[in-house]
Amino acid sequence: MKITDVQACVVGRSEEHSGGSIWTFVRIYTDAGIVGTGECSSAGPFSNGFATKETVLTLKRFLVGQDPMRIGPLYETLRRHSRYSGGHTAPTTFALTGIENALYDIVGKALGVPVYQLLGGQFRDKIRLYADCHAGETNEPQAYAEKALEVVAEGYGAVKFDVDYVSPGKYDTYNWTASAKEMTHIINLIRATREAIGYEIDLAIDCHGHLDLPSAITLAKAVEGLRLMWLEEPVPAENLDMLAEVKRASSTVICTGENQYSRWEFLQMFEKRAVDVIMPDFAKAGGIMEARRICDIADAYYIPVAPHNVSSPLGMMAACHVLATIPNFMVLEFHAREVPWWEDLCEGDKPFVKDGWMAVSNRPGLGVELNDKAARSLLWNGDTYFD
Ligand code: MG
Repeated sequence: MKITDVQACVVGRSEEHSGGSIWTFVRIYTDAGIVGTGECSSAGPFSNGFATKETVLTLKRFLVGQDPMRIGPLYETLRRHSRYSGGHTAPTTFALTGIENALYDIVGKALGVPVYQLLGGQFRDKIRLYADCHAGETNEPQAYAEKALEVVAEGYGAVKFDVDYVSPGKYDTYNWTASAKEMTHIINLIRATREAIGYEIDLAIDCHGHLDLPSAITLAKAVEGLRLMWLEEPVPAENLDMLAEVKRASSTVICTGENQYSRWEFLQMFEKRAVDVIMPDFAKAGGIMEARRICDIADAYYIPVAPHNVSSPLGMMAACHVLATIPNFMVLEFHAREVPWWEDLCEGDKPFVKDGWMAVSNRPGLGVELNDKAARSLLWNGDTYFD
């Protein structure tokens, strides 16, 4: 079997209407008639959308004519060719992710097995989800509590809320010190949510790296008794030594990783003892096998994996195949509760998401295909669809 063509297209009506994401889909064609589709995140300033697609098309010349069954050597060839031009970050790592996921789809289809079978088999056949929640514009504790109860009633056993961008008392947009008023407001939001849902539901809180070190430590200590599933990116993700300071300062569980890529960046995080839980984004971090490597290194440090996820059903299923095959899986994000066409974008065993869980597909390959008509209607900024 030989690769005959590589194409890419960008899908997402708008950031607002895509669950915060614009998706790049990679399609790889073979002379055996087997076609694989992989998904990755789009990259570029303010997600202009096309940087990843352009990178995929640039890498095409290394793929056409090659045997798609040799995923490892092909992946390493692309990665090494990109190393000296910023290849460890977006958009190259994103493009590698989409390409590798499409190759796994092809190999699974060629062998007639689901991708999880290529990764060592299942620890679990359905994946526990947490719902990413927004409480609207009011930013009041009562609104957080009500939204949390609404989501729990849908069957979710875990929820996450943001506590940045919500700050009365903020005196300077650029300074990341939380004033007494702002800190009190954030703590009240978290406490109201916990009191509403009780301790049988898991609760994560995301700061999006919008606090400085003293503010992050103050918050982590203040919410210790509320037993968070985790406090996410309390400080920006770039300085892992400072994240480690936050982690050491309290018993609150600290999580980061959606802005880190590849096994090497996560290895640094573990070596510095900077996190309790990691949340790699499998549409960004480097592909199915790279995700697996990250999870395995985490397991060697006894660290659980709770991936960030804003993907379509196709990319989310790719993540589920990996998460089915590792012992240290904790919970996976679902970001599209309020995107009404999310399920319609893809074909497969529907509904993909039900009662706070996603079943891992038993179909050959990834087990999810784009719905061509739906995807075509959602093309980003006048992009063209696959031939
Ligand atoms: Mg986050």
